[in-house]
Amino acid sequence: MPAFTVLPMPTEQARGFRKGQLDANQQPAERVRHGFGPCRHCLKRIEDEEMLVLSYRPFEALQPYAESGPVFLHAKDCTAYSKNDRLPDMLDHWGEVMMIAKGYNKDDRIRYEATAVAPANQLEAQCQTLLTDEEVAYVHIRLAQTNCYQFRVERAEQRLSQPKFSGV
Ligand SMILES: [Zn+2]
Repeated sequence: MPAFTVLPMPTEQARGFRKGQLDANQQPAERVRHGFGPCRHCLKRIEDEEMLVLSYRPFEALQPYAESGPVFLHAKDCTAYSKNDRLPDMLDHWGEVMMIAKGYNKDDRIRYEATAVAPANQLEAQCQTLLTDEEVAYVHIRLAQTNCYQFRVERAEQRLSQPKFSGV
């Protein structure tokens, strides 16, 4: 089973959105005073805190597979997820909730043979299975009900530098 690395939204992007950088829809992030949901930078739950809602595209370049969609961020500074060798504890909150694990090849195209829908509490095994496919460069994790992007998972050995998502 390959070891994996969990990658949240890069810190420079989170900082940018907090400073007013435009999102994937070329709009400033909306502010919600009493927000709830998963923060894509620290990968912890936002619990009745001020949060940003913005359209995020977690790909380096525009191409047909580069989906964008809504994500939440703590409005205040938070610390990037750092337990990168394991999936975030916030998955415990979802338990049986279905998640999408979608493999992409090195050209950022969906690897159709390497996609799965599984409960949050089985996601680790799913990620490890998908990453045994050598054509898979990385996996995106999304909530199945809403298709909202959560984080990225790669093989541990391939991580050389933080990906430079355009984000906008
Ligand atoms: Zn956060």
